Amino acid sequence: ERMTIEDLPGVGPATADKLKEAGYTSIEAIAVASPSELAAAAEVGENTASKIVAAAKKCSNIGGFETGDTVFERRKQVGKLKTGSNALDELLGGGVETQSITEFYGEFGSGKTQVAHQLAVKVQLPPEEGGLGGSVIMIDTENTFRPERIAQMVKGLKGGEDLDPEEFLKNIHVARAYNSNHQILLVESASELAEKMRDSDRPVKLIIVDSLTAHFRSEYVGRGTLADRQQKLNKHMHDLMRFGDINNAAIVVTNQVQAKPDAFFGDPTRPIGGHIVGHTATFRLYLRKSKGEKRIARLVDSPNLPEGEAIFSVTTEGLRD
Ligand code: ADP
Ligand code: MG
Repeated sequence: ERMTIEDLPGVGPATADKLKEAGYTSIEAIAVASPSELAAAAEVGENTASKIVAAAKKCSNIGGFETGDTVFERRKQVGKLKTGSNALDELLGGGVETQSITEFYGEFGSGKTQVAHQLAVKVQLPPEEGGLGGSVIMIDTENTFRPERIAQMVKGLKGGEDLDPEEFLKNIHVARAYNSNHQILLVESASELAEKMRDSDRPVKLIIVDSLTAHFRSEYVGRGTLADRQQKLNKHMHDLMRFGDINNAAIVVTNQVQAKPDAFFGDPTRPIGGHIVGHTATFRLYLRKSKGEKRIARLVDSPNLPEGEAIFSVTTEGLRD
C-alpha cells in the first residue's frame, strides 16, 4: 500500500489541500522541499514544516543511501518498450527502458516525432507484445501531435485492422507547452495525473517531451542567459527522471541539433542543451535521414551498452526494420 501525503504526521486534510495546490503532490516532492518553502506553501510553522519534510524523507528514502541489492531489486522492475524495429530495439539493449531518459536527437525531418508517436501506441500493448500495458503523457511543444498519425500506426499493428484507434487515443494525454516555464509546470501536472492513475488498469508508463529544447533555445538567446537556461533545463530533466523513478515509466525526449562552427572533422552538428542534457539522459540516439524512408540511429552514450548503429524505416504503418 503506497503512502499518500495525508499519511504524513502533521498533515491534516486542510494542509494536504494547500500542499497539493502548491504542487507538493507526492511524498517525494515534499521530501526534497526546503522546510521554509513548505511552511509558506502550507501556511504552517517552520517547526511543523521541518517535521513533515523529515517524515517524508524517512518514508521515501530520498537522499538516503541504499545498498546495491536494493538498487538491483528496483532495476529488476525495469520494463522495455519495443519500437517496432528489431534493429533499433537491439541497439537499445531490448527496447526503450523505464526509469531512464532516452533522448532522440537529430535534424528537422529525421524522424523524432515519428518515434514519439510510435512509442505512444506501442506502450499500450501488453508486455508479451512488446508494450508496457500503460498509458502515455505527451508534452507537445511544437504542435506536432497528430491523432491521424496515431490511427495509421494502430492500423499498422499486428491484427490492427480489428483495433479501434479511438481506444488508443483515449490513453494518450497530450498537453501543448506554450513556453519553457509552462513546459516545466506540465511535469507537475503529469505527476498528479500519473498518481491518480497509478492503481488503475492503465497506469502511466511513458512520458514524452517533444521537443525538450525548442522553447529553451528560442527563449534564451545570447551568452548572458545561458547559465539561467542550463539551470532550468537541469531542473526539468531531474523532474522528468523523478517521474520515471516514481512511476517506473519510460522517459523519451527529443532534441534538435545545432551547427558546430568549430568542427573540422566528423559530424558538424551537435545536440542542443550541452552537457546538462548529455549527462542526464541515460541513452542518447542520434537520428539521421538515409535513402527514402530509411533512418540511421546511432547510440551515442549509454552506461552499459556499446556504441553502435541501427537502420530502420519510417513507414505509413509505423517504424519497421
Ligand atoms: P522530426 O525529427 O523533425 O520530428 P518527423 O518525425 O516529423 O521529424 O519526421 C518527418 C518524416 O516522417 C517525414 O519527412 C516522412 O519521411 C515521415 N512521415 C511522416 N508522416 C508519415 C506517414 N504518414 N507515412 C510515412 N512516412 C511519414
Ligand atoms: Mg518533430
